[in-house]
Amino acid sequence: MTRRSASLNAERRAGELARVAGGESVDVVVIGGGITGAGVALDAASRGLSTVLLERRDLANGTSRWSSKLAHGGLRYLRQGEVGVAWESARERHVLMTRTAPHLVTAIPFVAPLAAAMSPLYGAFAEAGIRAGDLMRVASGTRRRTLPPPRRISRQEALRLTPALRSDDLRGAILFWDGQIEDDARLVVAVARTAAAHGATVLTYCEVTGVRRGAVSARDVRTGQSFEIRARHVVNAAGVWAGSLAGDVKLTPSKGAHVIVDGAVLGSPRAALAVPIAGETARWVGATPTHDGLVIVGVTDDAYSGAIVDAPEVTAEEERYLLGALSVALATPLTHADVIGSYAGFRPLLAGEEGSTADLSRRHSIVEDPETGLVTVVGGKLTTYRRMAQDAVDRMLGDERRPCRTAHLPLVGAAPAEVLRRLDEPRRLVRRYGIEAAAVVAAAGGDQSLLEPIEGTPVLGVELLFGLRHEGALGLDDLLDRRTRVGLIPEQRRAVEAAAASLLEAAAA
Ligand SMILES: Cc1cc2nc3c(=O)[nH]c(=O)nc-3n(C[C@H](O)[C@H](O)[C@H](O)COP(=O)(O)OP(=O)(O)OC[C@H]3O[C@@H](n4cnc5c(N)ncnc54)[C@H](O)[C@@H]3O)c2cc1C
Repeated sequence: MTRRSASLNAERRAGELARVAGGESVDVVVIGGGITGAGVALDAASRGLSTVLLERRDLANGTSRWSSKLAHGGLRYLRQGEVGVAWESARERHVLMTRTAPHLVTAIPFVAPLAAAMSPLYGAFAEAGIRAGDLMRVASGTRRRTLPPPRRISRQEALRLTPALRSDDLRGAILFWDGQIEDDARLVVAVARTAAAHGATVLTYCEVTGVRRGAVSARDVRTGQSFEIRARHVVNAAGVWAGSLAGDVKLTPSKGAHVIVDGAVLGSPRAALAVPIAGETARWVGATPTHDGLVIVGVTDDAYSGAIVDAPEVTAEEERYLLGALSVALATPLTHADVIGSYAGFRPLLAGEEGSTADLSRRHSIVEDPETGLVTVVGGKLTTYRRMAQDAVDRMLGDERRPCRTAHLPLVGAAPAEVLRRLDEPRRLVRRYGIEAAAVVAAAGGDQSLLEPIEGTPVLGVELLFGLRHEGALGLDDLLDRRTRVGLIPEQRRAVEAAAASLLEAAAA
């Protein structure tokens, strides 16, 4: 198997693009640089197949950066009776937390408050679901030191973990644990870089314009140059855009919105809140604290039939819905003035017969076009990306036997949790870069100012530099919106923009 550098940058892209556009013939072309496409590229490359990934913009340009950032064990699916989806989620969560990405996926406690006004039956039902979810944890081999089991907690403990809770009718709460993804876009970048280390060619800003049997037409969107790649197999992992390349794939996109508030507004919670949505079964609104002192409130799930854009806006109605649903459980309701950021994305769900999109299965699907041989993989979740990729590559290879290796392949930056805990580098760097944190610090070249947070943000200047040199960032938006995520908070984005722009200028000189 080819082992190469995991560094992606403008220089590598130029060299590899020239080679590919020169009429290269490969085993696999993967369309789309979200979590699914990156996962397929890693799976294929690590099975020894020559692989090219083409993404029309930057890595994690689409839905993959707009998630709730949870690697969940599928509690909700269990309640919907989708035991298979829940089991797959629990197993993949285990793989992420213990082998492939312990730096990016860590445990987060959830508090599900039990109010006096709730029927005791509701409490018993909620607890039974959570305990069934815990059985999946046990069966998938996740130890309690990685994800502790659930338990009932007192009113006092609930208030200690989530101080903003309304206390007047609080009886107590159920405490349970799940996986939290430090940054969904960084997970995509880590998977893509790991694929590159296994020999995959990762080309961003290259849009696929057509697919026919044995060949893909594409265009370098930075220069306008068109090129063609001959490929034995083509996998369409274009997410919510997959239907534009595969006419037989019918999607029912669902829009999911989140708003972001400063953690201080909610008393700097140490646990996420899970508040049931009135009148709905198996759905709740969550308020998840991040390590950077923010709280992400979400998520909506509504059928969407408008234009599919890369970065959808959150409407005033969606914001009102989320704030209202959460505020039911808070001592002081949240208002528009508390919102410091918001984001939304489209779930690439396969069209169902009827019912709301919240009820459509999150199971992934693989569809093969008999005419072109194009294999499309859609649906699923960030959490289950590895399994989706395995299934897609198995399907693509048919009788050609090459075993999947990804369940045992640590992503770039991964190391056991106890090793990560002992690292001396700044905690933010360890959380986001894992064992590579030392290389990030070294990239500062002794310039202490690069190791300080840029004023008004948690971002260290050196993260921008590392993004350009090693993580395939080519432009300002790549750095702000997909490597550091300051783009989630407009005020923070403005604070980092100048530093990022001058770095890019220096790199171009
Ligand atoms: C609001 C919301 C919350 C979610 N929360 C969670 C969660 O907490 N946990 C979880 O596990 N899952 C979650 N999910 C689900 C998960 O985010 C998605 O299933 C997953 O990100 C889809 O990834 P993808 O790679 O298939 O699609 P995308 O990330 O959209 O990637 C597709 C890529 O294809 C590219 N592309 C499109 N057309 C072309 C072309 N012609 N040529 C080249 N490239 C092209 C796009 O630019 C894009 O980058 C959530 C989803 C939403 C919407």
